Amino acid sequence: MVLSFFKEGSKLYTDAIDQIGRKEYSKAKKNLEAALKKGCDGKEKMAEMYIAFIEVGENRGDANRYAALNGKLANCGASNFKFGLTEIDTEALKTECELLIQEIKAAGMDDRNYMEKGQAYINVAMQFAMLGDAPLKFDEAFKGNTMSTASRESLILQAQAYEIMGKGVVAEDPKQGSEYMQMAYNFRRQVGDSGEDDLDLMNKYARSAKCWICGRPVNGEGIHFMAMRSTINPVFRTSTENDIIKPISDDCNSVYVCVPCYTAISNRSDDISRAYYDESIRQLRATERELRAEIESVRRIANMRN
Ligand SMILES: [Zn+2]
Repeated sequence: MVLSFFKEGSKLYTDAIDQIGRKEYSKAKKNLEAALKKGCDGKEKMAEMYIAFIEVGENRGDANRYAALNGKLANCGASNFKFGLTEIDTEALKTECELLIQEIKAAGMDDRNYMEKGQAYINVAMQFAMLGDAPLKFDEAFKGNTMSTASRESLILQAQAYEIMGKGVVAEDPKQGSEYMQMAYNFRRQVGDSGEDDLDLMNKYARSAKCWICGRPVNGEGIHFMAMRSTINPVFRTSTENDIIKPISDDCNSVYVCVPCYTAISNRSDDISRAYYDESIRQLRATERELRAEIESVRRIANMRN
């Protein structure tokens, strides 16, 4: 009786391993849980580990799941195992879990502390770099992606680090921002991405202009100065031709305006529009009241005649 009970547990365990091979992870997880209840002939620790592995796949962004799996890997007693077609070295997967936990924590840091956050990304990136071309197993196991390696992950993290720092520092130092975006772009190119967004920001941060209104020179298009549509007659085009830093766009359809001038104009314009709007509503309500009174008096006269 007891023997058949164990046999049943072992069968559930074997079924679950087959289901993992077919990527039927939720079915496999249920069978492994059932196998654990019945006992599965010394495979209990492995069953627990497989459940934790599947749970990582259910939410790849949850650091707690990697930590839980790490505990189960340390206890499972196997130096290597298979997850579907993927051959896994237990120690290597523990390292991957630890680095992914650090990566998730870095991603959760506040963007306002951009230098600290960028540095946290670089720290993880350096640790991935030390693993060289070791394949990353979660991507292979869950996505069938065998191209994912530690060195590739390192490059992606470095690109992200410089993107975070570049977008953060541009508010204070557009030139530094542009340099960081260039580094991010170089890392993106190394992993085969176009990196065009980084390149675009690198150019915008580096672009300089002179404010048409206050005359201040300023760096960082879209951040510290804006192009405003304007009618620029030839007399103004020729008078700015020799300016090293241009106050008008190349197509001569816009003037450049620094953000303090730009926001002062748009805020004032908003205030004026708001005043017109409030006045129109006030007049509309007054007309409404007059009309209601008139309708009421017409009704009264009509009723008297009836
Ligand atoms: Zn200005």
